[in-house]
Amino acid sequence: MDTSLLKQILREYDAKRYKAIYEAEERKKQLLSVNPRLQEIEQELASISIQTTKSILIANEKDKATLLSTLKKKTNMLIKEKYAFIKNLSKENTYLHPHFECKMCKDTGYIQKEEVTVMCNCLKQRIYDIAYNKSNMGNLERENFSHFNLRIFSDKPDKEKYKSSISPRSNIQVIREKVENFIMEFDNPTEKNLIFTGNTRCWKDIFNQLYCK
Ligand SMILES: [Zn+2]
Repeated sequence: MDTSLLKQILREYDAKRYKAIYEAEERKKQLLSVNPRLQEIEQELASISIQTTKSILIANEKDKATLLSTLKKKTNMLIKEKYAFIKNLSKENTYLHPHFECKMCKDTGYIQKEEVTVMCNCLKQRIYDIAYNKSNMGNLERENFSHFNLRIFSDKPDKEKYKSSISPRSNIQVIREKVENFIMEFDNPTEKNLIFTGNTRCWKDIFNQLYCK
């Protein structure tokens, strides 16, 4: 895979992830500035977080367990109060969370699957979309066999001009049959591949030089 393309997409991911985090911070700042109790709850939660870290270092296991249990209860109560407060303001519970485009990978492009880091489907899709457009295959709704017009190919053979004894129209008919057959047999492992050769965008040469291998 083109690594520069991946790097470019991951930079996009970084940008949208930081944007989501920044916007969440801004929403929080704004909400806290007009709701002092919410500000207090946030401060208490931050303080509990520090106390929890410190209590882990206590040697006495019994004291440690009691303290951690108390802190957990306090945390749960505060979180409950916080969400009730937010609900009272007619906001969603997730109002203060970063709103990532992809909830699976939180816009990192990667997820943990059975202790292995794998590419998220959103990133695969993004790579596919870009590669697809680059390959000029984005117009398949318009550029397909239902719009195939034989009449644009001459039905007059001209050996000198086309280096073939059959007309371009007969030639393209043969090619079309081969290509359609290839599509129909695409899942068949014994089906032979098609190779198109010729200068880029030079459709006449491409069609005249179709070989089956
Ligand atoms: Zn994702």
